[in-house]
Amino acid sequence: MFATVQRSFEVVIIGGGPAGSALAALLAKAGRRVALFERRAFPRFHVGESLIPAVNLTLERLGLLEAMDARGFVRKHGVQFFSPRGPSRPFYFAEVEDPRLHSTWQVLRSDFDQMLLEHAVAAGAQAFTQTPVFDVAMEDGAAKGVILGDDSVVRADVVVDASGQNGLLAQRFGGRDHIAGLENTSVFAHYKDVVLDPGIDAGSTLIYRLDGGAWLWLIPLPCVVSIGLVAHAQRIGAFGGSAAAMLDNAIERNPFLRERLVDAERTIDVRAVRDFSYRANRDGGPGWLRIGDALGFIDPIYSTGLFLSLFSAELAAAAIEREPRDFAGFAADYQRAFERFLVLVRAFYLDDFRFSEFAVDAERRQGLVDLLTGLVDTRSAIAVGEALRAAMAEEEERGIA
Ligand SMILES: Cc1cc2nc3c(=O)[nH]c(=O)nc-3n(C[C@H](O)[C@H](O)[C@H](O)COP(=O)(O)OP(=O)(O)OC[C@H]3O[C@@H](n4cnc5c(N)ncnc54)[C@H](O)[C@@H]3O)c2cc1C
Repeated sequence: MFATVQRSFEVVIIGGGPAGSALAALLAKAGRRVALFERRAFPRFHVGESLIPAVNLTLERLGLLEAMDARGFVRKHGVQFFSPRGPSRPFYFAEVEDPRLHSTWQVLRSDFDQMLLEHAVAAGAQAFTQTPVFDVAMEDGAAKGVILGDDSVVRADVVVDASGQNGLLAQRFGGRDHIAGLENTSVFAHYKDVVLDPGIDAGSTLIYRLDGGAWLWLIPLPCVVSIGLVAHAQRIGAFGGSAAAMLDNAIERNPFLRERLVDAERTIDVRAVRDFSYRANRDGGPGWLRIGDALGFIDPIYSTGLFLSLFSAELAAAAIEREPRDFAGFAADYQRAFERFLVLVRAFYLDDFRFSEFAVDAERRQGLVDLLTGLVDTRSAIAVGEALRAAMAEEEERGIA
C-alpha cells in the first residue's frame, strides 16, 4: 500500500468518514490534488444513522441526491418526541418553506460512508484505506504533511484532521473543551420486526424520554431499526450490568417503545460508545484545519452530527480555495450553528422541558422545526434560542434562590 502513495499533495486529509470524504470530493472537483488516509478497511460499522434535511444541500452540491434513494435509504419526514406521559405532536420538515428540505434520509452508515468515500475517489481524490496516520509533520510552526506507519512523510500544503472523535491532532494543536453536563454514554443495536407507524411517519425518528435525563432513539433503517439508549455516564449503570441488559431494561421501562418491540428480534450485538460533548479550542492554524467530530461533537438528541460534519467540510473547502497561510477562525459559521443547537440540547435535558408546552404559538413551533431541519439562522430559530436561554437563566436563578 505505502509503495503506491505519492509523496506530495496539495491537501492531505486524515480520516475517511463523512467529513473527510465530503471535503476530499469538494476539493478534487475544484481541481486540487488531494490524498485521504483512512486507518480502517471500508465498509465499516459506525453509529449515527439519522440525517437532518440541511444535509441535503451538501448532498445536492456533491451530486448525490439521486444515489440516496437508489441505495434504498429510508425517507425521513419528521421527528416525534415522547415524554413519559405520551407523545408530542410530530414535527414535519414540510413545515419549512424550501421544498428541498421537506424530507431527508435514515442511513446505514457503513453504506453511506462508503458511498461518500467512493464518490471522492471518482471525483479524483486518492484514498488509502487501512493506512493510519501517526502524526503531523511540522516545519517552521506550520503543518507540512503527515507521518505514516513506516515513518515516511507525505508532504502537503494543507493538512486536515477529519479523524472523528479520535481527534489525532487534538493534543498537538490545543486540546478540547468538554461541555459540562453532557457526559453521556450510549448503548445501541439493530432490530427487525419492529412496529412502525404507517405512511410518511414510518421513516420518522422517534425519541423516548425516560426519567433522570436518559432517553431512547428509534431510527428506521433499510430492513432493520436502530434503537439506542443515551444516559449520563455515571447513571447508565443503573439500567443493568451489561450493555445488553441496559438496553433491554431501558426499553422495558418505556411502554410506548416496548409495545413496538413485542415481536422484534435483535440482529447485532449491543454496542457501547462514549457520547461526551466537546469542542476543539482551535479550529485551524498555519497549514492545518479540523473538521467533523475532530472539531466538535454535540449530544446526538437532534441528529446534528452529520450536518455539522458536512457543513464544516464545506467551510474548509471554501477556506482552502482562498489559500490563506493560517486557517484560524475558518469555522466561525460552524461555531454559530453549534451554539444554536447546543441551547436546544440543554433545554431537552431540563427536568420540566416539554416540546408541546414550549411550542405555544406558531412562531415558536416554526423556530423549533427550523432548528430540527438545520436552518439555524432564521428569525424564528433565533427567537427560539433566545426564549430557551431566558428560560434556562430563570431556572438557574430559581435553583440558586
Ligand atoms: C451515540 C451516537 C449517536 C449518534 N447519532 C447520530 C445521528 O443520528 N445523526 C447524526 O448526524 N450524527 C449522529 N452521531 C454523530 C455522528 O456519528 C458523527 O458526527 C459523524 O460520524 C462524524 O463524522 P466524521 O467524518 O467527523 O467522523 P467519523 O465518521 O468518525 O470518521 C472518522 C474516520 O477517521 C478514521 N481515523 C481515525 N483516526 C485515524 C488515523 N489516525 N489515521 C487515519 N484514519 C483515522 C476513522 O477510522 C474513521 O473512519 C452520533 C454519535 C454518537 C456517539
